[in-house]
Amino acid sequence: MAQKVCIIGAGVVGLATAYALVREGFEVTVLEARDQAGLETSYANGGQLSYRYVAPLADRSVPLQALGWLLRDDAPLRLRPRLDPQQWRWMLAFLGACRRSVNQRNAARLLRLALFSQATLTQWREDGLEGFDWRRNGKLVAFREASSFQGAQRNLSDPAMQFVLDARQCRELDPALAETPFVGGILTPDEEVADCHLFCLRLVERLLTYGSCRIRYASPVSRLLMQGNAVKGVEAGGETIEAEHVVLAAGYRSATLLPDGPRLPLYPLKGYSLTAPIGPEHQAPTISLTDYDRKVVFAGIGDRLRVAAMVDIVGFDPSLEPRRLALLRTQAQDTLPRAGNYAAASEWAGMRPATPTGMPLVGPGGPRNLWFNLGHGALGFTLACGSGRLIAERIARRTPSIDDAG
Ligand SMILES: Cc1cc2nc3c(=O)[nH]c(=O)nc-3n(C[C@H](O)[C@H](O)[C@H](O)COP(=O)(O)OP(=O)(O)OC[C@H]3O[C@@H](n4cnc5c(N)ncnc54)[C@H](O)[C@@H]3O)c2cc1C
Repeated sequence: MAQKVCIIGAGVVGLATAYALVREGFEVTVLEARDQAGLETSYANGGQLSYRYVAPLADRSVPLQALGWLLRDDAPLRLRPRLDPQQWRWMLAFLGACRRSVNQRNAARLLRLALFSQATLTQWREDGLEGFDWRRNGKLVAFREASSFQGAQRNLSDPAMQFVLDARQCRELDPALAETPFVGGILTPDEEVADCHLFCLRLVERLLTYGSCRIRYASPVSRLLMQGNAVKGVEAGGETIEAEHVVLAAGYRSATLLPDGPRLPLYPLKGYSLTAPIGPEHQAPTISLTDYDRKVVFAGIGDRLRVAAMVDIVGFDPSLEPRRLALLRTQAQDTLPRAGNYAAASEWAGMRPATPTGMPLVGPGGPRNLWFNLGHGALGFTLACGSGRLIAERIARRTPSIDDAG
């Protein structure tokens, strides 16, 4: 008889895990607190499947840069210190992870996981998963400052797959960039883009074609049910759901379900996005664009322009912040004024479930039969398919396709 697995959370990570598990022959129940899938951080993110840009945020240049940013209103990073030991523990661990050796080791591990994720999504697409505005459109990371451009040229993550372009070549690459001020850029042609929320909805549709998968909405899990050192199920809405394995994929709120949750190295990093309709009168880039010095990403997703940015360390507060959104709108209009209808853009804020090192937690979660698939930070869409498959392989007791992933 098929083993039962319960997954907590129907974001992109939980759903990709469910899909990998049903393909392995497991019986899966997904429990989701909201009344639809993908309504939290997986809703309106940057949409970039950024397989070769996975270096952790914790980098040796960041502490000094961050000090400068703290004094500026238009900084990509904002810190609101709180009387919260979890916040301070996370920031101290983050500073420790900024060491060059730690950053390089984790960047290499993330690259392996990202390329595995790309291969997994390719396989799933070939098996018929479609309808989420996926394109292999390539990505240009463009620079305003000559110094940052030079630094990036010295640190290509995959020199065989990345090309250095001067200012003229950047402008010629995509007509939408004709009037941009960039001094140069790095082009990675096989990067991809898609709509993360649509991807979640398509995964749900596919999952429901398997008789072995159930998805229960409006079912917040209130606690894990333990038996000795093993987890034997969960409690949701006063009901007990028993399972042989439980996967915790509840995004930035995952820690609330663990007895020692506050010690989990997980903290929300808030970001924002705008989604502007693209009409015939607009000229949106076909390529994904990262404005490196302002830390703003642009992507044409279907008939919409998605602009995403900012890292705000402000606690567990997912509300929209008008001043940050106004800044994002100004920066987007300044860089690509004709790319979309900014006046009609919808606004969004999301909480990246971030670990200090940038490494997601993908593997055993302490008690026997509890698995973590969480902490994907700024890369959850990019890494979801690979992380989901790794968990499925571990639960199926098969040798994982890649090791050392979390
Ligand atoms: C501004 C911004 C831009 C981004 N851009 C990109 C990008 O371009 N590329 C990329 O790869 N990543 C990007 N990310 C990161 C990516 O969006 C996240 O890493 C990813 O969505 C995390 O997915 P998740 O499934 O772990 O979490 P979530 O999507 O938050 O899903 C967790 C789910 O668990 C549910 N849940 C929580 N608690 C419970 C409970 N007790 N019981 C039941 N259900 C529960 C929640 O309701 C939620 O649906 C971006 C993030 C932000 C904020």
